[in-house]
Amino acid sequence: MNTNTINTETIIRKHKINSDDYTLADFIEYRDKNIFSKANLCFEFCQDWKNKGTYQYMRSLTSACQNRVMMFDEKSGIQREMIMMASNNYLGLSTHPKIISAAEKALKKYGTGVSSAPMLSGTLDITKKLEKKLAQFKGCEDAILFTTGYSANVGAISALVREGDAVIIDRLDHASIIDGCRLSDGNIRTFKHNDMDSLKKQLEICDREFNGKLIVIDGVYSMDGDIARLPEILELARRYNAKVMVDDAHASGVIGKHGGGTSDYFNLNNKVDLIMGTFSKTFAATGGFVASTKEVVNYLRCYARSYMFSAAPAPSVIATVLAGLKTLEEEPELRKKLWKNIYYMHNNLQSLGYRISPSPPESAIISVQIGSEVTLRKMSKKIHELGIYANAIPFPAVPKNQSRFRLSLMATHTLDDLDIALDVFDKTGREYGII
Ligand code: PMP
Repeated sequence: MNTNTINTETIIRKHKINSDDYTLADFIEYRDKNIFSKANLCFEFCQDWKNKGTYQYMRSLTSACQNRVMMFDEKSGIQREMIMMASNNYLGLSTHPKIISAAEKALKKYGTGVSSAPMLSGTLDITKKLEKKLAQFKGCEDAILFTTGYSANVGAISALVREGDAVIIDRLDHASIIDGCRLSDGNIRTFKHNDMDSLKKQLEICDREFNGKLIVIDGVYSMDGDIARLPEILELARRYNAKVMVDDAHASGVIGKHGGGTSDYFNLNNKVDLIMGTFSKTFAATGGFVASTKEVVNYLRCYARSYMFSAAPAPSVIATVLAGLKTLEEEPELRKKLWKNIYYMHNNLQSLGYRISPSPPESAIISVQIGSEVTLRKMSKKIHELGIYANAIPFPAVPKNQSRFRLSLMATHTLDDLDIALDVFDKTGREYGII
């Protein structure tokens, strides 16, 4: 249902929402003198969704997030084991003994938190060490840390793109990039997903009408798992005097000869103007960073508001990421195992008859196309009951009727885990007429 066509009159009078008739997009624009009315309607929608047993979000884990997890099932009131296929802990580093030990040592030496912004008393010796290491990892001169990847994108884009400038983004860019653009005083232009003609058109227009130009792309797109056409984007950028920023959230540790991300994958080290990364996926922590020239990083320290006005990451997080970078170098077999698992799952899902994108796989994200939102909800209930923890992605996160399961593969998945998951997808896909 479209946000503007929601029949709130009917809903209020009957006071009964059938969640199958709505999606989360329906409760944004509702206007009323009582500013909480939309929250009340949305609550009713979510309650009905939960009552139907098809709401599979915020399930409580009672163990570490690895290939198998324990979760507390609120419905039955018991703990149960599930196969985790929804975590971006791609290399399984969250439980790596060396990394846990490094985090523990930092916790004991530096305490739980710094309780200050980085420009004040929030910078540690290990903060500077990590910034240097991340800059090297991305082939850049310097790097700056943020407390989340979200705030890295928001802070960097809004600091760099000023009035009279243009920011040009792929239509499938992550929400944090979009929010960074909205917070900037610049002009926002979009181009069709990974479409170079569309980007060229936007660059031509922006070159005529605006001052500075920044192109921002995801290295690996978070909903489809496909890789940006970076070489062509860089070439167009040079032609039109634009700078390029790559969000490597899902690329770091996964793609590239050394797991260095998108520029490593295309052998374009030192060629990308800004690279943003997050600690919340491969590095199994929380936080983010932006790597660039020393001048740009210095500028961000002075003007990125989410850096200046927000507390610095916890010491244990910094130690976790330092140890994670070392592990990436010392244990390349983790990445090899991850890719073995990606191909195994991708090829077998395809053999079952599922539509998988992209094909062949380009990252650890496997997008299993389902279509209708209602089928997705029913199927996710069944898959949950059969012990698979998978992310169901409905509209508005993806276009209408392009809902999907987004599977995240990990190096720590065993063949047994993958075979059980495939068996469940075989059964449920047949039951719901998908395969
Ligand atoms: N960019 C992309 C492409 C992402 O997928 C995410 C996380 N979902 C972020 C940025 C934000 O990172 P974080 O979770 O560290 O805030």
